[in-house]
Formats: sequence, C-alpha cells, structure tokens
Amino acid sequence: DTVSEEKLEMIERRRRLLGPAYQLFYKDPLHLVRGEGVWVFDADGNRYLDVYNNVPSVGHCHPHVLQALTKQASELNTHTRYLHDNVLDFAEKLIGTMPDALSQVMFTCTGSEANDLALRIAEDYTGGTGVIVTDYSYHGMTKSIAALSASMGPYVKLDKDARAIPAPIHDPAHPEAVGKRFAADVRAAIADMQRHGIKPAALLIDTFFTSDGGFFDPPGFLQEAVEAIREAGGLYIADEVQPGYGRSGEHMWGFQRHGLVPDLVTLGKPMGNGHPMAATVVKPHILERFGSESSYFNTFGGNTVSAAVGLAVLEVIEQENLLPSIHQAGKAIVDGIGALATQYPVLANVRGVGLYASAEIVDAEGKPDAAMALAIVNALRDEGILIGAIGPHANILKIRPPLVFKEEHSRLLVEGLEKVLSRL
Ligand code: PMP
Repeated sequence: DTVSEEKLEMIERRRRLLGPAYQLFYKDPLHLVRGEGVWVFDADGNRYLDVYNNVPSVGHCHPHVLQALTKQASELNTHTRYLHDNVLDFAEKLIGTMPDALSQVMFTCTGSEANDLALRIAEDYTGGTGVIVTDYSYHGMTKSIAALSASMGPYVKLDKDARAIPAPIHDPAHPEAVGKRFAADVRAAIADMQRHGIKPAALLIDTFFTSDGGFFDPPGFLQEAVEAIREAGGLYIADEVQPGYGRSGEHMWGFQRHGLVPDLVTLGKPMGNGHPMAATVVKPHILERFGSESSYFNTFGGNTVSAAVGLAVLEVIEQENLLPSIHQAGKAIVDGIGALATQYPVLANVRGVGLYASAEIVDAEGKPDAAMALAIVNALRDEGILIGAIGPHANILKIRPPLVFKEEHSRLLVEGLEKVLSRL
C-alpha cells in the first residue's frame, strides 16, 4: 500500500493547518472530488460505490435539491426573525410525516445541537437531570451531549447524573427476551438514580443503536423501556439522526418500527442532503414553558436557504417513492451477506433493517476481530466500495448507504465482499 507523494503532502498540510483532531479513513486515504447519486469519484477519476454516507441521503448532488438551494441562495438568505414562507412550508411538511402529537419543530444546524436542545427542554419540563443512554452511544459533540455519548471515553467522562446501560442484544432465538432485558436495565438505572437523589429527566436513545452496533429486532421491543421511564416521570427522546428519514424502508421514522410516539425527536444528518441542518420535534405542552422563557435562538437554524433545501429533500423522498426501494435494496444486502456467512465463518450475526445493516467480524473462536474488520474495509475500498466499521470492539461492518441505493448496488456490494473474503 503506497500512498502517493501528492497525498502525503496533503496529509502533512492538513496536520499543519487543522491540528491533530482530524482523522482520515483508510490506509491509503481517499481524495474525493465529485459525487453523483450513490457514486463518488477521486482525483484520479476512480469511481467508488458509496455504502457509507447517510448525509447525502437522496444521493450526492441530487438535481432537485441543488435547484432549490441555488434558487433560494440567489434570492435571499436570512434567519428566522423575519416572516418567510419557506420555514413554515418546510415545518409543515416535516411535521406532516410525524405522529399527530409531535406537532412543533425547532431548527438547529447539527444533531449535537438538536440533542442539546431536546435535553434542555426535557430538563425544564420534568425538573429532572438524570439521563439514561446506552454504553456505546453517540449523540454529539457539545459539552453536555459529549458527556452523554458513552462511546467518547475515556477522555470524556459520563455526566454524573447520567447512567449508561448495555445496548440491547441481538437474539433472534429469544426475541421476547430482548425488550425485557433492556427494560430491566432501564429500571435498574432509574432505581440507582433515585438512590442517589437524582430525578430522571429522559431516556435518550438512538432508535437503531447505530453506534452500539445496530439492534433492530424484534419490532416493538423498546415499548417496555419507554413505559418505565415515563412511569418514573422522565421523557423519551428518540435520536433519529441516523434511523430517520425513511432509512428503515418501512416508515419515515425509526420509532414507528416500535409502535412508539416519543416525547421529543431529534433529527440531523440526512435532512439537508449535505447542507448542515438538524431539528428537535416536540409535543407542544412539553415545549410551552421552555419555548416561552428560554430566549432560544439559533442564527443559522431554519434559515431561508436551509428550509428550501429541507423541503426539497422531503419532496424527493416522496416523489421518488423511496421507501419500497430502500426495503428491497436493504433486504438484498442482508440476504446476500447472510448467504456469504454460511460460507465464511468470519461473518456473524448479519442483521439490518432497510438501508442500515450490520455484520460482525469474528475470529475462529467467535471473538470480535477488529483487525480483520479493518482489513475488509480497506480491501473493499481497493475494490471501489466504501463501508465502515463500528461498535465497542470496532468489529461490526457498518453498511449505511444513501437512500437511493438500489438492488443492483446491493449486488455489487455483496459481490465485492465475496471477492474480498475469498482473498483474505
Ligand atoms: N446522534 C447520532 C445518532 C449521530 O450519529 C450523530 C452524528 N454521528 C449525532 C447525533 C450528532 O450529529 P452532528 O454530528 O450533526 O452534531
């Protein structure tokens, strides 16, 4: 693996200008210059199938979104302190996709801010400070939310009033046990808070546990845990930054898979197809006091251009009728990789819903094999296919393409993976 002189220079320049915080993917990092649909292109003109990026949700450089963006950017861009139809049209369309009770929305620029806002609202409404998260969760980067992102450790300490519980289990043989165990962990966390004089404010969970490794089944398994937090006076915040926007191929929102109506929902990544946008959707009675008294304002959140872009993304999901193709393409991924798992024992616990799939990479004893997962990710890159690896042991293949990924692309992914596995 030789990295070109040109790239080495760029890497050095990044390090000099951006400091040490900026990580790159791959042993031979990619220098991307263009994107179209599910494809990205590097500076040498090589094409890569994007099976990783959920931000360009309706595909890289979608023409309808581009048109909305350039049109509005050439007319006016202001914040939300003047009257304008865009923010209202977008809010109306977005809320229209949610259960009726979730009928107000506040706009931010990042998922971190959306979670930070949701938390402030939840604390205000409940008078509590205790938050329950899972132990390899990721909810964002602000000081308060990093302290609730248990995957950040050891530099970032968990908030002292928070409790991190184990993620759900993948246990298709005993589906009824999944929700029972998770709810028992939530109850234990509540009891521990109460012993320490901490009032519960919220259960904050990523509906598909995407950072913990992806846990989707059985549908409905989150219900008992949500009942438990509500009985203790806390709220249920659904972090839909990754599961939302139709990714499941079943519903627009991940929580619908569990038959739930959250008290607050946070959105981000896919909202603007790359334009930085996020939001907190909330039941009005929960927002009432905080909204009236907190003076919350977000300079760029809900601006005229962002609103036009956000509306265009929702229009594409609807006009291109993406949900059924998300379902089909996703099924082809899980079935295809599932079939490979019968031949290649390094693959275990292949699972997914819609266009979010996980496959664990294990050694001969069935233990997590991060080195092999990384080798697969790098070898796939050399085959022109981009995926990632996640989870507490960094051994779970993360398959999370743009939502315009079709069955033909799923086949390319499965073929590429087979080629790589037979070689490794
Ligand atoms: N929640 C989840 C589930 C996420 O995956 C992320 C980003 N990876 C965030 C929140 C934070 O979003 P942002 O990076 O836009 O602040």
